[in-house]
Amino acid sequence: MNRGFRRSRGWVRSGLLLSVFLLLPPRGRADEPYARSRDYDLQNVRTHLWFAIDQRRIRGEVSESISALRDDVSELKFDSVDLKIESVAVDGKAAKFLTTANDLIVSLGRPAKRGERHEVFIQYEGRPKKGLYFVLPDKNYPQQPKEVWTQGEAEDTRHYIPIYDYPNDRTTSEMLLTVPKTWITISNGRLVGVRDETDGTKTWDWQQSEALSTYLISAIAGELIEKDDAWRGIPVRYVVPRGQESKIDSTFPRTKQMLDLFSDKLGVPYPWAQYAQTFVDEFVEGGMENTSATTLTVRDLVNPILAPEDRTGADTVESHELAHQWFGDLVTCKDWANLWLNEGFATYFEHFWMEQHYGPDDAAYEFWREQGQWFLEKQMYPVPIVNRNFDDSEQYQDNIYTKGGWVLRMLRATLGDDNFFGALHNYLETNRGKNVVTADLVKAIEQSTSIDVDEFFHQWVYRAGAPEYEVSYAYDAPARQLKLEVHQRQKVDGLVGLFDVTIDVEVATIDGRKTYPVRVSEASQSFTFPVDSPPLMVLFDKGDQVLKTLEFKKGPAELIYQSKNAETVPDRADAVVALGNLKDYPEAIAALGDRAQHDPFWGIRVEALRALGKVEGSPAEQEVLAAVSDEKPWVRSFAVEQLGHFKQDRSLAPKLLDIAANDKAYRVRAAALDSLAAIQAPDAYDILVAAVKSDSPDDTLRNAGLEGLGKLGDDRAVPLLLEWSAPGKSYRSRQDAMMAVARLDKKNKDITKTLVSYLRDPYFDVNFWVLYALGERGDPEALGPLEELLKSGDFSLGEKSVIVSQITALRGKTDSK
Ligand SMILES: [Zn+2]
Repeated sequence: MNRGFRRSRGWVRSGLLLSVFLLLPPRGRADEPYARSRDYDLQNVRTHLWFAIDQRRIRGEVSESISALRDDVSELKFDSVDLKIESVAVDGKAAKFLTTANDLIVSLGRPAKRGERHEVFIQYEGRPKKGLYFVLPDKNYPQQPKEVWTQGEAEDTRHYIPIYDYPNDRTTSEMLLTVPKTWITISNGRLVGVRDETDGTKTWDWQQSEALSTYLISAIAGELIEKDDAWRGIPVRYVVPRGQESKIDSTFPRTKQMLDLFSDKLGVPYPWAQYAQTFVDEFVEGGMENTSATTLTVRDLVNPILAPEDRTGADTVESHELAHQWFGDLVTCKDWANLWLNEGFATYFEHFWMEQHYGPDDAAYEFWREQGQWFLEKQMYPVPIVNRNFDDSEQYQDNIYTKGGWVLRMLRATLGDDNFFGALHNYLETNRGKNVVTADLVKAIEQSTSIDVDEFFHQWVYRAGAPEYEVSYAYDAPARQLKLEVHQRQKVDGLVGLFDVTIDVEVATIDGRKTYPVRVSEASQSFTFPVDSPPLMVLFDKGDQVLKTLEFKKGPAELIYQSKNAETVPDRADAVVALGNLKDYPEAIAALGDRAQHDPFWGIRVEALRALGKVEGSPAEQEVLAAVSDEKPWVRSFAVEQLGHFKQDRSLAPKLLDIAANDKAYRVRAAALDSLAAIQAPDAYDILVAAVKSDSPDDTLRNAGLEGLGKLGDDRAVPLLLEWSAPGKSYRSRQDAMMAVARLDKKNKDITKTLVSYLRDPYFDVNFWVLYALGERGDPEALGPLEELLKSGDFSLGEKSVIVSQITALRGKTDSK
């Protein structure tokens, strides 16, 4: 799965909503940390679904071929939730069955012997609350294309098929979908045929002839548009809701390059009969790697006009889900405790795609940023990647995604490229079509490379945390020696120990640079290096190869030197951050300005701008202003946003106004609107209102105007914001307007009331975000309705944790009063 919305929105764009995206929790819930013991092996599932579209109901027939795995199996248990089972037959004869809240139990009549095979046929119907979703037009959105789509992970397939629903089994699968004749369907595997029914509908027949785990089953149907392509003889399908056709080419320009790269580098050609990527409305995930048929969200479609402003388009989510076709689908975690074998790899291969396509600097920068984020998620630190102590399989998602990806990066560095990719090849081939635990990966690596990685996995995967280094050095001129002191400052406690890692130390002097690998394993160690002249720069862990924090006190001169001369992006980025923390140091501001304008890598320019935005005063502002003409729109917009921090300068407003009106990139114009609000420019209200009323691709300017009105804090905007919060407006505009109006006229109970009414909004993209808007508003009046909602259980899956956190925050407010 892809983590909600965090990757897709272009993180360089800041603003309120981005922080909301970051908070979006994973969907679904899986609370079985251990795989089950099985009574039977599910060998084939043939599902046929019919849809009563307006009633949001389904009718289903499923034939399941099973083979008993032990003697004396007298009943078969299928996961089944909220489905009305109408009849069950075993081997063609009516069978006794009973249902509980979570199961369908079918009697075999007599005990079966191990290896005995049976065919179970189940007829059922239901109105699924999870697993299968209808998106339909209504009076507010009459143009909405009709869509039906499923989301199985983690344990939701059971809401639309009575089935064995845990990942420690695999089955072949056939999916028949009977739909209106103008609809298109997508499912796993090969399209075997489409036949006309006598009532004018059509039945599409999809066959997945290589086994999958049942959470990877997918069924999509609706008023969709398909564009067909091919890669090495395999059908490649790009599918979007009707009306979004113009975004197909700008969204999928690189799918086939990704297929080439992953297939060739792993030495395992893409393993399925097709590759379909389908964008659907109101998807409850960021993306889902259903076998051969990835589902994505329209939120990530790339508008062709905005594509040049977007550095990577939909690459991150596309590469993530594509990598899962090997890691997750071909080889699948056996239980949720080993979910990192899916998600760590998918995350790693996002970065690998970036490295290969955009360059190593981009990948190194991405890892550097994610490292910082991981350490901020404090609850991750004491918990290992492989962990069975959870309520929800993605509760520790930053360990399984971010740290998992980092661990694979370190593994590649440890093994070397040939060994690393050779080991992955062996892992995939050895475990092809199987369900795995981490030990299977370790074994495959050792078989392939003869390198023992037990210690590596012990400290990085089975134990918790990461090293927190404190480093200092002294130069001994007479002895021509540099002495480096290294301390591991992490609290050794529970599953966090001292780390044993080889670290590259680089020493630069006027005579050149030398790199020394040193083994750091103790709480405190010192190392000496011969040097000919005073060091200009000392780097500990050159290139940021090890997941860690580093406290390395350096003087301004060395930091300035490092910001300009360090070879790798992470080392220059570290120096830029440290320079931003120096107070009253004009040379630091000048050096940051120099980096903001002249660093060859865009990410360093962004980091320098970020640092300058935090330094108050005119010199910093002048440096930021000098960078607003950056050729890259994503750097330019970042510079314009930083200008919003210089509230004292009244002369800024005309400059921002000019940018808001004339920059050729919409994202830069949007950033200027945001900054006009931030500096409380004299005409800001009128300018933002005009922006709300203007049209632009994907409503970029309108939404920036709505967001800006919240930031400006002028209560005159309330009626306009309420208007744009209302049903009928685009979901994205409603989100921005709700968040903005939540910040205004805090005594106005009608605003709270209106927002509360959207808690029951039928649109996922709205009722989810209003939770954040109510949190932002902080009005205890919302407490009752939120508690009621929580009690009712009547919310989309995954909303629970957000509801609970808003309730906790609001209660805190009432208590402090
Ligand atoms: Zn994923």
